[in-house]
Amino acid sequence: MSESDPAAPADTGYDEWADSLAEGGYFIECANGHGSLPPRRVCPECGSTDLAEEALPETGEVETFSEIHVAPSGFGEDPPYVTAVVNFGTVRVTGIVRGLSADEVAIGTAVRPDVERNDATGNRLVVFRSA
Ligand SMILES: [Zn+2]
Repeated sequence: MSESDPAAPADTGYDEWADSLAEGGYFIECANGHGSLPPRRVCPECGSTDLAEEALPETGEVETFSEIHVAPSGFGEDPPYVTAVVNFGTVRVTGIVRGLSADEVAIGTAVRPDVERNDATGNRLVVFRSA
């Protein structure tokens, strides 16, 4: 595969990946089974350039989470909100939890990924909803 091949998964950018979460999302897997998130040109674990897109599992499990009380300026999110690192098996995804308070989130809570778009900035926001 050439560097300029637009169909190559390694050329896929973060925004496109975030948008794909609305339809379930995907991750990058190398020939040795290491998962990573785009944009990627090489496997971060073994350096393989033999990468393919694999569908994300429908749900993941909360691995760690924290309640944010003071938002960084310009982030556009009203505190308090909950951020979580969600384990999808071979990849971990970080995002904001929607519809669950910090009291309702626990390690192992099943969530599904989604994407929200800030119309003002065009920025994508990875979010998790109760599965
Ligand atoms: Zn690898």
